[in-house]
Amino acid sequence: MTDEAQINLFEWSTQSPATPPSGGDGARIPTSAQVPIPPGTYTHIEALAQDCRQCQRCDLSQTRTHVVVSRGSPQAPLMIIGEGPGQQEDETGLPFVGRAGQLLEKILAAVQLEPERDTYICNMVKCRPPGNRTPTPDETAACRPYLLEQIRLVNPKIILLTGATAVKGLTGDKRGITKIRGQWITWQNHLCMPILHPAYLLRNPSRKPGSPKWLMWQDIQLVKAKLNELIP
Ligand code: SF4
Repeated sequence: MTDEAQINLFEWSTQSPATPPSGGDGARIPTSAQVPIPPGTYTHIEALAQDCRQCQRCDLSQTRTHVVVSRGSPQAPLMIIGEGPGQQEDETGLPFVGRAGQLLEKILAAVQLEPERDTYICNMVKCRPPGNRTPTPDETAACRPYLLEQIRLVNPKIILLTGATAVKGLTGDKRGITKIRGQWITWQNHLCMPILHPAYLLRNPSRKPGSPKWLMWQDIQLVKAKLNELIP
């Protein structure tokens, strides 16, 4: 395979190969992060989850308790992508279940969005970075093919990117989250909205105009209005 062809395998594609394998036996997943997982590898989320549970493509596999793949509905119109699992997520195997996750659920409920029905929630990396540090670029790159497959399979109307790491990890946009939150970004034909991370809101409880919570309220209303527009 030429270098260019190998690089292309990492690129986003909405086209499935002629005969996509169903995935899920773990045997086909390259343990080296240098070896790509081609777009179209999976035909359903559970097969992807099975492979993630056996994955050793980066060192985070050595310290995880559980692989945290996703929760919510694979048919959801809204996909929410965070940075990585925290302690409670690592213990339970579910994303956004700690205090930040509870706040996220309240924010969604405020605009009549039900997490298990209307959203599909996942992270840039599926194993917990020790001490909740930011995932390294190598770890993010190793896990990225899984995320791209999740986006391809769910095919959401809108992607919410929570925090700068998620924005940078998916789109490559390195601007600070306070600069780009609340602005629509189109990435690979997907409509994305960067928002503040709920954990940041927990550290900034003020509700005054211009505060993080106030900004989140503006952003989530924009998202809800766009969803209503896209799904009459
Ligand atoms: S973080 Fe992703 S790439 Fe790394 S071991 Fe976990 S599932 Fe595999």
